[in-house]
Amino acid sequence: MIDPSFGTASREAESAMATIVTYTDHELPQNHYPHQIVSPSHPGPCCFSDMEAVGTAQTETRWLFQYQRCRECGFTVRVILREIPDSALTAALRKTLATSFVRNVPDL
Ligand SMILES: [Zn+2]
Repeated sequence: MIDPSFGTASREAESAMATIVTYTDHELPQNHYPHQIVSPSHPGPCCFSDMEAVGTAQTETRWLFQYQRCRECGFTVRVILREIPDSALTAALRKTLATSFVRNVPDL
């Protein structure tokens, strides 16, 4: 498990999102972003100074997040950058609905 004090991800956010990170000490750290990242199960002292962003910020449900990976040991954590306000989500949904309404979707 990740030290709960590491990173800013809340339990609520963690449970709401699927993750591409596999935490294991039986395999070498690997970075196959955006498909899979193999990370050591625990962060080391190096992780607090050598973290680098992996990929771009992504949104999932109500969260904007980004993976950060340690250059030294490969420990990866998903950092919640911010919570998306409901109003922004509603606006995005409205836009999606408007777009899908005018789009010519063939019958499946
Ligand atoms: Zn590290």
